[in-house]
Amino acid sequence: MSSLRRHLLPALVLVAVAALSVPVLGSDAPEQMTPLLLSVPDAPVPFNGTDGRTHLIYELAMTNFSSGEIVPENVEVLGDGVVLQTLDAASIASRLQPAGQREAAVSLGKSTQAFLFLNVVLSPGATIPQQLTHRVTARASAAPSGHQEITETGGSFTIDRQPVVVIGPPLQGSGYISADSCCDATRHTRAALPIDGRVWISQRMAVDWEQLDTQDRIYSGPREKFDSYTIFGKPVLAVADATVVDAIDGQPEQTPGRYPAGISLIQADGNAVILDLGQHRYALYAHMQPGSIRVHKGDRVTRGQVLGLVGNTGNTIAPHLHFQVMDGPSSFSSNGLPYEIDSFQVTGKTPGTSAFDEAEAKGTPLAVMPVSPPQNAKDALPLDQLIISFSQR
Ligand SMILES: [Zn+2]
Repeated sequence: MSSLRRHLLPALVLVAVAALSVPVLGSDAPEQMTPLLLSVPDAPVPFNGTDGRTHLIYELAMTNFSSGEIVPENVEVLGDGVVLQTLDAASIASRLQPAGQREAAVSLGKSTQAFLFLNVVLSPGATIPQQLTHRVTARASAAPSGHQEITETGGSFTIDRQPVVVIGPPLQGSGYISADSCCDATRHTRAALPIDGRVWISQRMAVDWEQLDTQDRIYSGPREKFDSYTIFGKPVLAVADATVVDAIDGQPEQTPGRYPAGISLIQADGNAVILDLGQHRYALYAHMQPGSIRVHKGDRVTRGQVLGLVGNTGNTIAPHLHFQVMDGPSSFSSNGLPYEIDSFQVTGKTPGTSAFDEAEAKGTPLAVMPVSPPQNAKDALPLDQLIISFSQR
């Protein structure tokens, strides 16, 4: 390093985020202060949703390496140099989540990190790009007046083109609700957990399956009773020929209507089964009834085989089946992957998560909007808040 540069660098730190362009010896491109550091920890695997679109679900990690607040104002997602999606300030504010928090925020405080949760949707028939990057415009308050508006490009990555695993249904019958599913429901998609030294989102594509009765209710009868719930006791099915890598039983049912107190990470899944689907794909089924698990570690199972019964064990507020696919055998320290179910019907839609939450809290009918005629879905991931029928083949 030349003596000039050795003296220049401390000066740059002092002016913090001044939008200086510094000529670099041997390069035509000027160096630029980038107080907002951008990266994508996990490249997304494109998949087909029930909307017939290809989705890319991932997180843009933003680190504010400055002594003042940074407000991202505009984010463009570019695929092979072409703008695929633009997020304005309001959209960013609904998707930016500071590290360790579950509420969205409009800005990054000084010296903080946040994830911007992205759902990039490609037009039908569009070619999937190879390379994605981001152009971010932001206001950096630590920069000198007149230089606070910054534009940075970063967080480039190559899309992960591993094939999406195609599976069978995890349940059988009609009236199932794909609650908190992909892509903009926040409870699973944004469940970022720091475990063993890195951040994981194993639940990125998880679904909490609930079921409606003939009057579109999640339960009828007392809210605190398990068998008031339509889905309680329904058989949980192997989604593929697979090997059981874990089968946990013996955890007690929790009283529906409130989350249990004092549940550890290890107990959160309740009674659970993890299947190895091959090629580094694993399926998790959580919250099953105690004593209902019919398989053991090491067993080979076949598609459609009953693994256990839907219950309310672990960290759960109501009987349901939590199902996810991930890239490792741990239900938390793994990376959530998309999957496609080979055949099912979409028979309706709910008005959304808040209507669902109210129906789950009160046992009142959900105002389901029928899909008529039902949509025959093939090789698709059930998106959020749909009413689904599964038949075994
Ligand atoms: Zn869940």
